[in-house]
Amino acid sequence: MPKRVIATSSSSECTSSESKIVKVEDSGNSSGNSENATWRRDVDLIRKMRAEMVAPVDTMGCHKLADPLAEPKIHRFQVLVALMLSSQTRDEVNAAAMKRLKDHGLSIQTIRVFPVTDLERILCPVGFYKRKAVYLQQTAKILGEKFSGDIPDTLDGLCSLPGVGPKMANLVMQIAWGKCEGIAVDTHVHRISNRLGWIKTSTPEKTQKALESLLPKSEWQPINHLLVGFGQMLCQPIKPKCATCLLRFTCPSSTAKTEEKVEKLAKKSRKTIKIEKEDALEIKEEPE
Ligand code: SF4
Repeated sequence: MPKRVIATSSSSECTSSESKIVKVEDSGNSSGNSENATWRRDVDLIRKMRAEMVAPVDTMGCHKLADPLAEPKIHRFQVLVALMLSSQTRDEVNAAAMKRLKDHGLSIQTIRVFPVTDLERILCPVGFYKRKAVYLQQTAKILGEKFSGDIPDTLDGLCSLPGVGPKMANLVMQIAWGKCEGIAVDTHVHRISNRLGWIKTSTPEKTQKALESLLPKSEWQPINHLLVGFGQMLCQPIKPKCATCLLRFTCPSSTAKTEEKVEKLAKKSRKTIKIEKEDALEIKEEPE
């Protein structure tokens, strides 16, 4: 029987406490290499699952919210705004706020002269909308005065703007400028890559470094979109749907590792669906 082995190697970009964990299947020779790393098998299976699902990020992610017909500078600014609003905010709420902003004409010029209280009203209920209204107006002023009315085309330039951090800057570079300079690590990417045991890190910043050392550059851009949708639909922060996940037998964090357990969880979820259906019928049948 082929034997499953776990090899741990240190990474020059990781501290010793977060050494890179590379799990390899013993395929007859003991020299595991990155081609055998489990991340590749996991990514293939996640792609397979993602091909069958439509996640909020697919239809309402920040890459969808800027006006594609707008003049390039305005389009880039709208991408930046969508990303600035997206933190701590569900995609649906962000998409609705972006629509309201675009209805008012979303450009550097309009935001510069917009009263902050009106901006707050338009942004609400986006997370931290009051702070974001101030950041947006400060950003519009900075872009007008220091960047010739355009957004910066470097990570450093973007990170110099109020409220913009590395994750956001990387996504702006990818979506607005078509350049991939690093992996954009949000809460989904951080959680899932640790759950799957690809890396062992305590913060998104450390995750970015560890993933950039683990994954080939061709995966740096797609990995964010792939894992965000997977995290929204299946590998959620609380109660991930392990019983229906193709990784359930190999994922170190799976709550459904054995066939028996999977069947139990599936039965439980069928029972819940049945009760919910019966409740729905009862509600429908109740006299007005
Ligand atoms: S088995 Fe569960 S924890 Fe592991 S990747 Fe799938 S959904 Fe996430």
